[in-house]
Amino acid sequence: MIRIDGSTGEGGGQMLRSALSLSLVTGKAFRMENIRAKRERPGLLRQHLSAVLAACEIASAQAEGATLGSKTLTFTPGPVRSGNYHFAIGTAGSGTLVLQTILPALITASGRSEITIEGGTHNMQAPPLDFLQKAFLPVINRLGPKVEIRLEKYGFYPAGGGGFVATIEPCERLFSIQLLERGEIERRSAVAIVANLPRSIAQRETDTVLKLLNWDEQSAQIVETKNSIGPGNIVLVELAGTNVTEMFCGFGRISASAESVASEAADAVRSYLASGAAAGEHLTDQLLLPFALAGGGAFTAEKLNLHSRTNMEIIQCFLPVDFVTTEDDHLTRVEVRTLKT
Ligand code: ATP
Repeated sequence: MIRIDGSTGEGGGQMLRSALSLSLVTGKAFRMENIRAKRERPGLLRQHLSAVLAACEIASAQAEGATLGSKTLTFTPGPVRSGNYHFAIGTAGSGTLVLQTILPALITASGRSEITIEGGTHNMQAPPLDFLQKAFLPVINRLGPKVEIRLEKYGFYPAGGGGFVATIEPCERLFSIQLLERGEIERRSAVAIVANLPRSIAQRETDTVLKLLNWDEQSAQIVETKNSIGPGNIVLVELAGTNVTEMFCGFGRISASAESVASEAADAVRSYLASGAAAGEHLTDQLLLPFALAGGGAFTAEKLNLHSRTNMEIIQCFLPVDFVTTEDDHLTRVEVRTLKT
């Protein structure tokens, strides 16, 4: 039984989700105490509990402590079964984070899976669905599987009620890849989405992004949608390089002007461009686990934050890998090495 103290490092929900993913893949049981101890409302929130229950379902796992607010979880997985699953989070909790929890196990499972998730699709502090489609999954697919996602309905905080379907064609084993250069930026776009909100918000956001990044009008697009039960807004900036696509966003919220939401996205783009790295801060922490499962490979990262460093520690509780990091002026090279046992 692997024992993990959830109050170390970042002390947040990613530690639990990574432990679940790794437990499913390796078949190793774990016990985590002090779950999300460094968060204002520690313990399992609806999104984390949904991830635990989804992990239980795809592997007939036993979980002790799988209740809302629980600060301790013991998780014992059975064999992973591919297939069709439906998970409803029941709030605006992030559905993309629930998918990311079970995805590592399903991309090397014995058959195809179709996963339908109801909940949030565009949540603050979680990967927006578009980020998975454009940035995260293309890298995952280069490791060997074929994963696609289609949006059914937008789910913004606080109303939620969104949904999407992921189809997963697994592969036998993951390839290790090198993602050191981002390559030439071939396409760039700024898309502002407004659900049940005035178009003017999106217009102000795209105007601001274009001005801050000195881009021409052809790079901007506005999406007005009623395919959402609540109101919602996000601005997504995409940079498609020859080797990697990155996406940065600003989440519309009551306390922030359209201009400040847009400048959050533009600031993230500028810092990424200045770094020369292939992976931005978020893509970095999300690639560590799949690269470790591939048992090798390397990428350049804009920043290795505490989130990523903690994720490395959790991965090393389950897998015999080392992360060799080399700092340069503006970027970090991350190399995964399998340890000889
Ligand atoms: P808590 O921190 O409250 O426990 P949590 O369970 O949602 O929250 P975190 O540990 O904060 O988990 O992890 C959030 C995940 O969402 C991380 O993998 C992070 O990279 C990702 N993420 C956050 N914001 C973005 C963004 N703008 N684009 C892409 N990914 C994001």
